[in-house]
Amino acid sequence: MGSTLRLGKIAGIDVGIHYSLFLVLLFFSWSLARDFLPGLNASWSTPTYWAVGFLAALLLFVSVLVHELAHSVVARASGIEVGGITLFLLGGVSNLKAEAKGPRDEFVISAVGPAASLALAGLLFLAYRVIGGEAAPATPFGVVTVPLSVVEAVLLYLWFINLVLGIFNLLPAFPLDGGRILRAIIWAVTGNLSSATKVAAGSGQAMGILLILLGVWQVLQGNLVGGLWFALIGMFLNRSASTARREMKVQTSLRGFGVKDAMRLDPPTIDPDASVSSAVYGPLVQQGTLAVLVCEKGSLVGIISLSDIKGVPQHRWALATVRECMTRTPLWTLKPDDELAHGLEMLGEHSINQAPVLEEGRLVGLLSKADIAQFMRLNSKLDFRGGRFGLG
Ligand SMILES: [Zn+2]
Repeated sequence: MGSTLRLGKIAGIDVGIHYSLFLVLLFFSWSLARDFLPGLNASWSTPTYWAVGFLAALLLFVSVLVHELAHSVVARASGIEVGGITLFLLGGVSNLKAEAKGPRDEFVISAVGPAASLALAGLLFLAYRVIGGEAAPATPFGVVTVPLSVVEAVLLYLWFINLVLGIFNLLPAFPLDGGRILRAIIWAVTGNLSSATKVAAGSGQAMGILLILLGVWQVLQGNLVGGLWFALIGMFLNRSASTARREMKVQTSLRGFGVKDAMRLDPPTIDPDASVSSAVYGPLVQQGTLAVLVCEKGSLVGIISLSDIKGVPQHRWALATVRECMTRTPLWTLKPDDELAHGLEMLGEHSINQAPVLEEGRLVGLLSKADIAQFMRLNSKLDFRGGRFGLG
């Protein structure tokens, strides 16, 4: 996620916050200070409401972090590389570099987050009851008979919000944890990940639309802020679910094919001492590629792509050499026998359009996103499956 501020490592896992979190922290502090806290104790000063509101909002995100850490730590223990945790506007995400290997792992990794939230809710509730005693209401909706202290108020808010976090995430709507649990169960029963994803993502899309409608209804009822919040979460859910569905469709259609099936053979190359204009008017214009590999004495030394060329003013193209503006090795590379789905994933992960394909250090091809798209178009019309395909 862009615009992220790195905070550091916890249990060896990178934690970062997206700038949108600052806005939402302010917003939560404001709404707690204005509506929630005065109901628990009417005698505090305005700065106290704000300070306690801010503390409670901050601890809410610490709770979200605990939830995400549970996912990440268990994922790492199951052999999945964890790219870090990002806290943002709508909560947190754990960036897992791969999908779970089987339904069992998927189930455990997904369930442990809500389990952590519910356990935290239980602990905080205990602490709240011990400190607050019988006079304190059990939920934020209860009637406060005795004004609560700062600690009691914060504990009351936190135990309840962790309960909500745990339950909301258990909704069977992909990509929420509950949706992943549902997917793991269908996956275990049918043995088919792609149809399990279809069902879980369908439920995610439906839940998203339901939340949007609920939001609109709330707005019409006069609850503008709460309604917008529901609608926002609904839109996020709906969009993530349809993306997951589309990605699974692509993954399924690529299954069984290798990088060698879709790559461009003998891609054009250029000498590093050639001019930028010869790269543009040669391979780029004439062969319709978006990048040219740069080879010196038979070995790959870099790649020159449109984005590299854009950095050179046009009047210098004839004078500047490829070497001056190319992206140098080491580049992200693929092997001909890599799975095509892995190739696509790698291009996406590093935000690059193409990668050279090497076999024992020798350049054999170039795989671009456009090549994969073209391959999928052809495959959908001709269905290569079953026939011999590729280099051998
Ligand atoms: Zn979760």
